[in-house]
Amino acid sequence: MTMKIHNIEIEIIKKKIKNLHLSVLPPNGAVRISAPLSVSDESIRLFAASKISWIRAQQSKFARQLRHSEREFVSGETIYIWGRQYYLQVEYSNKSNNFRLDGERAILTVRKESTAKQRENYVNEVLRKYLKDEINRLLPVWEQKTGLQCKRWLVKYMKTRWGTYSETTGTVSFNLQLAHKPVECLEYIIVHELGHITHRNHGKGFIAYMDAYLPYWRETKNKLNALTLDYMDE
Ligand SMILES: [Zn+2]
Repeated sequence: MTMKIHNIEIEIIKKKIKNLHLSVLPPNGAVRISAPLSVSDESIRLFAASKISWIRAQQSKFARQLRHSEREFVSGETIYIWGRQYYLQVEYSNKSNNFRLDGERAILTVRKESTAKQRENYVNEVLRKYLKDEINRLLPVWEQKTGLQCKRWLVKYMKTRWGTYSETTGTVSFNLQLAHKPVECLEYIIVHELGHITHRNHGKGFIAYMDAYLPYWRETKNKLNALTLDYMDE
């Protein structure tokens, strides 16, 4: 059976359980209440009504995730580059792809019949170039300042980490998605990962190193973690 409360449709399942149980389910935010057989519909209704703001909060969280995962690279979508928001404007051409920033607009030129995935791949290729250019500019500066040098570095798409340092290969990996964030976030990751050349973990020595070279690193770290990874759910 279903119930409608404040315009939210709720599926009610009565079964042999002890307590009322409310869930908002991915991916669409469907609402379900499991209820003990003995609980009246009126009690369920009151319970649901008391949880409306929580339900709405969960639903909008799913809606946001869905929007990110269903990015289609069409005009009107937004894209963040170096922490600034741009409005995507898609133009068509049968010649080569192109991507340029013009004021508040990010103008993407692609073939009309290109798929969302192909557009995404192309945009990521451009972002990779932006990020590499910026790393090429900033990494030598910080290697000089800290006296720490990595053997090599690369940019790759990562789901859960902004950067990593491999002791075995001496390689720093940067998350491609750093190109979406303010440039000081990249700078923080550079200093952080270089720090792992001499400090394995994030202990006292590491903290002292960060404080010495980037006194405001905590603010930047908070900023970075407050901004979620854009394509976390693909
Ligand atoms: Zn670390």
